[in-house]
Amino acid sequence: MSQGIVGQFHKLKAGSDADLLAMQCGDFYEFFDDDAECVAAELDLTTSTKSSGGESYPMAGVPVSELTPYLTALVERGYTVAVADQFEDGDDFYREITRRVTPGTLLETTDSDAQYLAAVVAPSDRAASEPSGYGLAFADITTGQFLVTEVDDADSAVAECYRFDPVELLPGPAVRTDDEFLEAVTDRSDSEVTLHTTDAFAPGRAAHAVTEQFGDETADSIGLDSDLAVRAAGAILAYVAETGVGVRQSMTRLQPYTADDHLTLDATTQRNLELVETMGGDGEGSLLATIDHTETSPGRRLLREWLTRPRRDRATLDRRLDSVAAVASAALSRQRLQETLDGAADLERLASRVASGSAGANELLSIRETLGLLPDIAAELTAGELADSPLPSVLDDIDRAAAADLRETLADAIVDDPPGTVTQGELFKRGYDDDLDELIERHESAKAWIDGLADRLKDEYDLTHVSVGRNKTDGYYVQVGQSEADAVPDSFSHVKTLKNSKRFVIDELAEREREILRLEEQRGDLEYELFEELRETVATQSALLQDVGRAIAELDVYCSLATHAAANGWCRPTLAEPGELDIEAGRHPVVEQTTEFVPNDLSLDRKRGFLLVTGPNMSGKSTYMRQAALITLLAQVGSFVPADSATVGVVDGIYTRVGALDELAQGRSTFMVEMQELSNILHSATEESLVILDEVGRGTATYDGISIAWAATEYIHNRIGCHCLIATHYHELTALASHLDRVGNVHVAVADDGNGGDDITFLRTVEEGATDRSYGIHVADLAGVPEPVVGRARDVLDKLRSEKAVEAKGSGDSEPTQAVFDLSAGEFRSDDGTQAASGVDDVGTNVVDADSGAANDTGSDRDPRIESVLTALQTTDIDETPPVELMAKVQQWQEQLTESDLPEH
Ligand code: ADP
Repeated sequence: MSQGIVGQFHKLKAGSDADLLAMQCGDFYEFFDDDAECVAAELDLTTSTKSSGGESYPMAGVPVSELTPYLTALVERGYTVAVADQFEDGDDFYREITRRVTPGTLLETTDSDAQYLAAVVAPSDRAASEPSGYGLAFADITTGQFLVTEVDDADSAVAECYRFDPVELLPGPAVRTDDEFLEAVTDRSDSEVTLHTTDAFAPGRAAHAVTEQFGDETADSIGLDSDLAVRAAGAILAYVAETGVGVRQSMTRLQPYTADDHLTLDATTQRNLELVETMGGDGEGSLLATIDHTETSPGRRLLREWLTRPRRDRATLDRRLDSVAAVASAALSRQRLQETLDGAADLERLASRVASGSAGANELLSIRETLGLLPDIAAELTAGELADSPLPSVLDDIDRAAAADLRETLADAIVDDPPGTVTQGELFKRGYDDDLDELIERHESAKAWIDGLADRLKDEYDLTHVSVGRNKTDGYYVQVGQSEADAVPDSFSHVKTLKNSKRFVIDELAEREREILRLEEQRGDLEYELFEELRETVATQSALLQDVGRAIAELDVYCSLATHAAANGWCRPTLAEPGELDIEAGRHPVVEQTTEFVPNDLSLDRKRGFLLVTGPNMSGKSTYMRQAALITLLAQVGSFVPADSATVGVVDGIYTRVGALDELAQGRSTFMVEMQELSNILHSATEESLVILDEVGRGTATYDGISIAWAATEYIHNRIGCHCLIATHYHELTALASHLDRVGNVHVAVADDGNGGDDITFLRTVEEGATDRSYGIHVADLAGVPEPVVGRARDVLDKLRSEKAVEAKGSGDSEPTQAVFDLSAGEFRSDDGTQAASGVDDVGTNVVDADSGAANDTGSDRDPRIESVLTALQTTDIDETPPVELMAKVQQWQEQLTESDLPEH
């Protein structure tokens, strides 16, 4: 192993399980060897070479004062970085790893979103008689939020992970070998998986960590009776302690939650409904981005939390709705509140920074200012139009007297414009500390003595051109004009001659100078000590800061929801018992922003709770169904909803499945995934759920698909009995409405040209009954498929409709060869009704020898290549052909058509 400094580096690195090590060497943190190369590449640093132990190594360094942004950048790129600090021991130096920074323990994050560290525990042996289920803990060390729960199965655990979107995941011993689980979580979030020592997850040790942090009675008093959840929570505490980030003081509360309080939203549904990001992964265009008018980062975090974790309990929802309603109708109060909130800092985050000892004077000042907003906020809530709403109660949890005291303490302590560092003094106001005041006075009198020195010298020695100055090289000096420089007394010792003057030092001045330096150093030390004490006092008030921060966030969310509701004509939903959903003139909250939206009604109840939605492609089926899901969800967030009126029966879960072809084609889904998702819905949905299925069975052959959709419909209708909307292109399904009581048909209407053609206009209105036709050919026309193909497709369709059979066309110079495809038999037959001897080739693309025939039965004189494309088009089973193969075929057809002379039309 290498010797010298790099040897030390390697040794420290080997003892840490971090990806990179930053080791302090004097004024720099250095990375050596491979780490240097890696950091240089990631952060665009230049490397130099370090000789150590007789060998050369690459080295990259950052100044001590600039470590934080580099650390943040590295950790945000997914590295864990250990930091070794340098300590003095007499004349010797030694270095020790003081902390390890990981994605979940990064305090200096630049992202305002919550930053969850998650731990997931499963019983070690599922076959044994241990409890089943998963214990989950989610901690955001930047705000101190700490939630725990236990869920029944892996799917629910994945859904919770998706909902919290942790940046780092600590799998327990049994979970870390469960590749399927880990893949499911990491596929759907950007979590880094960290294998923390399994000891930390051991029941006894974890329980000890929890009681040590939150007190003896915690688990009992908060009703946390899940050993698995305690193990997850304990593992997080151990991990946070071990990384040395020092925020445990701000982790003031452990909040257990149960799935019963919340609406179940599985991971797929959260994604399909584009709650916080679009299917493409962008924040822009999501529901959150659309309705977010918050003024503060905590407000935005809370809105996100509410959207991803809608509630089921009516009391909470009514309270939220009353609050939004009150703020919505009090525009001026709302505006004033928002203006006040705009000045609020992120107290939850500041509490963590204070607890970890990384907050400076400016941060304490932000805390002071934000606490100072409370009286204004309280006055706005209690004095005016909002007084009778539940809004004033948002402040109930806050110890207002303690908040005022803390504000005052800070106001008495910190000056209004403190310096950026806390070691150089000038942080505290006069009157805060007697010793400090005395130091300051002595400092001032020493300064005053110096200020008066020039005049005294002038008097005493009868000089006119005398001044006293200070610079880095000479310290304090007396400067005397050239003409009088020789008249100075002997006690002046000459240090420098300038053009028109000479500089001297005198003993008394040197003594004062030493005194001033001593006082400045003492002042710096004392102020730093006082500052640490003050910061410690503030840290003991972490819970208070979190309460105030949370209240500000909540008010901000109400204002935001009210602002959006008022600006977009949303209405207050009436909450009802499960089994009812009645929406008048409902809209899709995101689509209505960019489109002249056509509102639609929807009415579901116990008698008619299942709708089959049909209509042409692109007519608005998905939008209609999603708006039903989103209106339900928004109502259970406590928000107004995009409709003229809405009665929403509170559901226990929303489940969606999108099997649309474009998802399949883009490789985002496979038939297997579709079926797994369907299976999950059929297992999980209850009578009180809302299920939205956008095309079931699309990923397989037609008959398979219909059969699955059919059976699923029956199962949901007969066994689950929940509200359900299914969009389908299998018109056969619409017949189910006459057999199953609760099933009805609706379709999205289009207007056609009245001549049976395919010139249609999308009306976007949803009407009773099933549509009787498919509009695929219209879409082909819109997409620019050449007219002969579209024309021929219409012919084929007409034939199909009338005869349930279609003849394949050939063309050429001689007699056409024909084969008729019998749809009921699913095969070709010859004209005499027997099965054709030749016909479909392996892939079923061509049925007739294109060179063998001349004019075909309709007397067409079309180019044989066109005819062969038409035939191939007509015989290709879209449902049976994998998307990629289908694309290749379309490309081939296009090429063939380009080569042929397309007739004028
Ligand atoms: P489908 O599911 O039937 O293929 P979509 O629901 O995806 O159709 O709708 C296609 C497009 O039509 C949407 O992107 C949207 O722009 C528009 N649209 C849908 N419903 C409406 C409506 N009610 N009013 C206005 N535009 C709508």
